Amino acid sequence: MSVQIAPFSSAIATYLADKSYSSVFVITDTNTKKYCYPLVRDLLPKHVHFTIKSGEENKTLATCELIWEAMTNANLDRHALVINLGGGVVGDMGGFCAATYKRGIDFIQVPTTLLAQVDASVGGKLGIDFHGFKNHIGVFTLPQSVLIDADFLKTLPERELRSGFAEVVKHCLIQDANKWSEIKVKDLADQNLADLIAHSVEIKKKVVAADPTEKGLRKILNFGHTLGHAIETFFLDQGKNRLLHGEAIAAGMVAESYIAFAKNMISEKTLSDIEEFIFSVYGNVSISEADFDSIIKLTLQDKKNKGTEVRASVLNGLGSCAYDVVITKADMKKALKYYS
Ligand code: NAD
Ligand code: ZN
Repeated sequence: MSVQIAPFSSAIATYLADKSYSSVFVITDTNTKKYCYPLVRDLLPKHVHFTIKSGEENKTLATCELIWEAMTNANLDRHALVINLGGGVVGDMGGFCAATYKRGIDFIQVPTTLLAQVDASVGGKLGIDFHGFKNHIGVFTLPQSVLIDADFLKTLPERELRSGFAEVVKHCLIQDANKWSEIKVKDLADQNLADLIAHSVEIKKKVVAADPTEKGLRKILNFGHTLGHAIETFFLDQGKNRLLHGEAIAAGMVAESYIAFAKNMISEKTLSDIEEFIFSVYGNVSISEADFDSIIKLTLQDKKNKGTEVRASVLNGLGSCAYDVVITKADMKKALKYYS
């Protein structure tokens, strides 16, 4: 999988130089249509532009139908190119539509959120939410290329930037203790984002290359996501103030670090460093003890599980992560106490 971290103008010119696509189809959402499309429109060859509604709630089969319909109306054949210009929602869903349209046509990811640049766009996981289950329907198909330009982030709301930063923190904690030492002493505003994007992409690429379809090692990328996804879904189901993905994952990383500490896999100092840093960047979420069971129940839906056993990716020292670690209801209850 080719990932280019470069100004979009040169990256797209290089990408298209040796290709002869029959047509080009650009997908944006309502925000990237406004903020990102004007920056790229004139750099692209003649194309059809299609816009979907922004937001996770639109990452559905119904939106896919609209995309497939627009592709059909634009007469895309198997030699067409789809360009997904947007965050993880556009990338996951536009990629899924391209990977399944006429059994698959070329697509490239042009991620415009920090989360999509450091995580979602790299690795070929595509899909949609279904009946309340996140990313329930999907495929593994690698894009032809990922073109990352940090300039797109200039218009991204600060809360979205913070959310994406959680995946950067995750990559440091599971793979690079030195980088963790560098970032943990700085506020988000003082971080070197360009350097961190390149760092995260390297880690994600390496892990995905070793295990493209998540049979083993790739599971380490799910650190923080067992309880994090459950917390994210719980807040969504309750109609409470929605947590962004990275905010929920940040909470999940603290809780799962507690589990690692309880299993003697990290020291108390490591746990308190992680807790202090994450709470300073994200604040603390508040969860009533009465809701612990509902959240724990949601972890049973996790795609990493086998049967009814919950299997998580748990830090095993700083910069290292174990996967397929069985965690019990009691482990999770103790960890969730952080938030009550
Ligand atoms: P998103 O795509 O919803 O983008 C967040 C918000 O920012 C949206 O409102 C969007 O319209 C807006 N936006 C995007 N770029 C902008 C820009 N440059 N300026 C102004 N506004 C902009 O969400 P996300 O956080 O990028 O991604 C979350 C999604 O990614 C989830 O659906 C998640 O499941 C998925 N994901 C996938 C993978 C994977 O491996 N495929 C990994 C992590 C997350
Ligand atoms: Zn994530």
